[in-house]
Amino acid sequence: LITDTRDATHLGLQFAPPRIDLNGVRGHWLKVVDTMSKNLAFLCKARKVEYVNGRGTFRDGRTVQVEGGVAYRFEHCVVATGSTPVRPPAFFGTNNPRVMDSTGALQLEDVPPRLLVVGGGYIGLEMGYVYAALGSKVTVVELTEGLLPGVDRDLVLPLHKRLETLFDKIYLRTKVVKLEDVKGGIKAFLEGADVADKEPVFERVLVAVGRKPNTRDIGLDKAGVAVDDKGFVTVDEKRRTTSERIFAIGDVAGEPMLAHKATYEGKIAAAAILGEKAVYDVRAVPAVVFTDPEIAWCGLTETEAKKQKREVKKVKFNWLASGRAMTLARTEGVTKLLIDPETERVLGVGIVGVDAGEMIGEAMLAIEMSATAKDLALTMHAHPTLSETIYEAAEDFYGVATHKAPSKKN
Ligand code: NAD
Repeated sequence: LITDTRDATHLGLQFAPPRIDLNGVRGHWLKVVDTMSKNLAFLCKARKVEYVNGRGTFRDGRTVQVEGGVAYRFEHCVVATGSTPVRPPAFFGTNNPRVMDSTGALQLEDVPPRLLVVGGGYIGLEMGYVYAALGSKVTVVELTEGLLPGVDRDLVLPLHKRLETLFDKIYLRTKVVKLEDVKGGIKAFLEGADVADKEPVFERVLVAVGRKPNTRDIGLDKAGVAVDDKGFVTVDEKRRTTSERIFAIGDVAGEPMLAHKATYEGKIAAAAILGEKAVYDVRAVPAVVFTDPEIAWCGLTETEAKKQKREVKKVKFNWLASGRAMTLARTEGVTKLLIDPETERVLGVGIVGVDAGEMIGEAMLAIEMSATAKDLALTMHAHPTLSETIYEAAEDFYGVATHKAPSKKN
């Protein structure tokens, strides 16, 4: 519904904001959630998994008590209690329903004329994008010097440029020092060098400044489960906690807080419980920011390579030279490979562009299989597709990318 902007771009309307309507989006969202929940209930039944709805707490290392219900004595238990949004108490103490977290923002109750997004990370940009597409004037306030801190700057740049056309304002190095209820809205007090109006008013505020693991108040101490100073459950490579029979997976078991990491860990824990040889030993975890364009990366990033002072050879393929990107009128993308100069192994891949999240699967396989740039360059890719940009970037490592003029060195 949202990335269908490509239909519009076919008509030459590059970067035209997508036209989506609230009821259409909400109706579709409800249908998807309902169908997926029903499917899960069906799969639970088919696998003889009993589903109990209630709040559970550990009584000891073998028992979980469900509030107002029965106590379960278990052979093994897997903790997957997830995380909750951080709410800085000093200025987000307000209980005003106009101040939302990601769960509230996903309800799509209305389209606020003016929306303040505090935090320019995953949630802030994804939800800010949705509300901008619905028609809100979105202001993003980010504490650090760039959107999506930690992500390679060359990948963020095309998204930042696009967001500048969709959002009303993007303030970097800026702080929200206080939020105050006023008639018909929330007044935000902003502190930042580039801020013109330091006390703007918004109909709604989305707070997206990070998440913290849900490890408090579930009796982990009674069960002998240790938690580190950031609140994450301490786990070993099988995802076993410090309590013999208890395992932990997902957001409670450490960063990155991503759903696919949780699923993967769940399978490792289940195999370990069954006594199989299984450890969490991945070379990479894919990350995708679901904006338009998307940003996706896996393995080593340039930022990490610099920090580690690790020598890597970077090859980049600009989507301006991709036939498929041209037909989509979305040539702002970039595909980047980081290659070990000695072994020629692919160490990391970063992509910004439409469908980057779909393309990162190939990059993950390459990294997990220790593929070299040659492996990618010798793998035929369908034409015309965006995946050819991975292929051409790999060819570029050898100076022979078909759609790139050879550099003088080569
Ligand atoms: P985040 O860590 O991605 O971003 C938080 C941002 O808020 C950072 O840029 C940070 O610098 C900024 N910030 C912190 N304090 C601030 C303040 N007081 N004022 C202004 N800015 C401030 O966190 P998130 O967006 O809340 O998402 C939480 C986690 O959920 C993510 O780290 C990610 O692991 C997960 N997530 C993933 C996806 C996905 O996979 N597409 C989507 C949503 C969430």
